[in-house]
Amino acid sequence: MIWRATVLTLFPEMFPGPLGHSLAGRGLSQNIWQLNAVNIRDFALDKHKTVDDTCFGGGAGMVLKPDVVHAALQAGLESYQGAQPSILYMTPRGVPLTQNKVHSLVDTNPAGSIILCGRYEGVDDRVIHHWREHHGLQEVSLGDYILSGGEMAALTVIDACVRLLPGIVNTQESLESESFELDLLEFPHYTKPQNWQNQIVPEILLSGDHKKIAAWRHNQAEQITKERRPDLWQAYLNKKHC
Ligand code: SAM
Repeated sequence: MIWRATVLTLFPEMFPGPLGHSLAGRGLSQNIWQLNAVNIRDFALDKHKTVDDTCFGGGAGMVLKPDVVHAALQAGLESYQGAQPSILYMTPRGVPLTQNKVHSLVDTNPAGSIILCGRYEGVDDRVIHHWREHHGLQEVSLGDYILSGGEMAALTVIDACVRLLPGIVNTQESLESESFELDLLEFPHYTKPQNWQNQIVPEILLSGDHKKIAAWRHNQAEQITKERRPDLWQAYLNKKHC
């Protein structure tokens, strides 16, 4: 089964964008994963192709219409022909995206993801409610800040998922040591020259002793996590002592 991202957006021309380059881009051209950027406007019901309207209760912004978004989601789901993609709405009100969440998206739904991108004030809440209740839609946030639209968030989710697909990243080892994979931030990396502006690469990394290098790296990962992310460090300690 090929993992496929279906992005529902008012700006399909933003895709593949950065996903057409480097690892994800190579994977896309090798058909390791697929991308379908769908214009929500194609599902508008009137001759003016209206996708949004004013907000009940007042307020400046526009809201994406439930009937139009519903039709776009339905067509997106039907395109998976019975396979079960995850269905995501990118929103600052969602659960923050984490590496664990990315793993669970890829593992639970190997068919891929349908990703709904909001714009303006967002999407009429009734269609989100309907798809949450009937199809398990998940609301996912990139973080505690406001983007102009869900497209940047969708690009990020897709990139993070695609990296985990077999055949995208060259060695399993480089995935396994990355930040968050071992509940820690990653250790520091160095390359040539050995001496750069009087900063010398730690001697141990030149020793060829792989066991000692692994222990040094693990220790560095612990120190960095402890200094920079007390929340992750506490979770790591709790898990370690379980
Ligand atoms: N009125 C909304 C609120 O305060 O929660 C923000 C709307 S925002 C300008 C337009 C769209 O951008 C949202 O519907 C959502 O799809 C996307 N967006 C904005 N910030 C986001 C974030 N932190 N994570 C995921 N998507 C986001």
